[in-house]
Amino acid sequence: MSHKLSTINHKLFGEAKRYIPGGVNSPVRSFQAVGGLPVFVKEAKGSKIYGECGKGFIDYCLSWGALILGHAHPKVIEALSRTIKNGTSFGTVTKLETELAKLIVEAIPSIDQVRLTNSGTEAVMSAIRLARACTKKDKIIKFAGAYHGHVDYLLVKAGSGQATLGIPASSGVPKDFIKHTIVLPYNDIKRAKETAKKFQKDLAAIIVEPVQANCGVIRPLPGFLEGLRKIADKYNIVLIFDEVITGFRLSYGGAQGYFGVKADLTCLGKIIGGGLPVGAFGGRKEIMQYLSPEGEVYQAGTLSGNPVAVTAGITTLKLLKENNPYNDLQKKAEELSQYLELKAKEYQIKIKVNHIGSMFSIFFTGKDVTDYQTAQNQDLKSFKRFYHNLLKGGVYFSPSGFEANFLSTAHTEKDLKYTLRAISKALEILRRS
Ligand code: PMP
Repeated sequence: MSHKLSTINHKLFGEAKRYIPGGVNSPVRSFQAVGGLPVFVKEAKGSKIYGECGKGFIDYCLSWGALILGHAHPKVIEALSRTIKNGTSFGTVTKLETELAKLIVEAIPSIDQVRLTNSGTEAVMSAIRLARACTKKDKIIKFAGAYHGHVDYLLVKAGSGQATLGIPASSGVPKDFIKHTIVLPYNDIKRAKETAKKFQKDLAAIIVEPVQANCGVIRPLPGFLEGLRKIADKYNIVLIFDEVITGFRLSYGGAQGYFGVKADLTCLGKIIGGGLPVGAFGGRKEIMQYLSPEGEVYQAGTLSGNPVAVTAGITTLKLLKENNPYNDLQKKAEELSQYLELKAKEYQIKIKVNHIGSMFSIFFTGKDVTDYQTAQNQDLKSFKRFYHNLLKGGVYFSPSGFEANFLSTAHTEKDLKYTLRAISKALEILRRS
């Protein structure tokens, strides 16, 4: 990091830490996983973020995957300006909420009805409550390394900040709260079958990130998602796909569209808010009808379906539907991933790049990464050095060896070429060090 950048960030972070715990409002932003100081961003446009010091970076974090159209897309900003003039929140119903809900229902065939929330965490928490209510059972299965937000009983062997910061389970979560959570290895369908059979009378839900993306990107092995579907059908368990990352990212129909496997309930976030705080959960009508006010499962939110946030979501989804950028995005991710592996090989550095659709992550290991354990055993020291070499070169990846990177429609060929050169240089410096 240049001297100027470092000095400014140092000053700003010092001040932030006085007033905000750890200086951040979400732990992974702290750069604790890669060392050094977080980049204080002043503004962003298209594929780039600009620090308070004026330095620009090509951004592959993209607000943790939310900005599939890049930063400050002119049509999103225009729509937001129009909406905001009419007021920011009304505390009663608007046409806009129905419009976003309709777009989601039309895109994901397993969803008949959808309820909007303010975050992915809320969506997941509510989906699980609903699953428990409609099966009248309590236990849930989650997979190691999956992150489903900071819901108490899901902070067990979680990914994202918990993987990054090595927190086994959060302090402040009573043991009683996690007694109904069963954690299994991702991609191990045999264990899932055995466990479901054993606990069938108590199991309300299986929640899965169809592609794990919070311990690096880990694809489902062939048959894994299909196997979960079968298990859920056999034992009357609600299959929940947490598509907070994969929804409208892997395809317009999310991971379900990509793999052709249907969930009973789907959780969404990130892209459906176009960079503003929105989450959602939806599924078949007979399940959704358990929700208050029609049913007895309580769920609410003062700002849920907020007109401003919903406008960003509607504009984003409409543009995705119109332009279908998914093949193009995938090609860009492939190009980057292949180049990374090729260059690393040339420099005799062991890395594996996992990519799917427009998501990718780099593991400093010689092994194929298909589970959390292997992801955890990577050489994080090399990752950190590589990360900072890249940052110096003007490329901003997600600041952790356990987070995914993303492409947007704003990334140009020129950006990619620049990034490839920066990658090559970063790996070369790593080899020499
Ligand atoms: N589920 C998944 C798969 C996520 O990646 C995240 C956040 N990264 C969440 C849930 C929680 O979403 P939020 O941060 O909006 O609460």
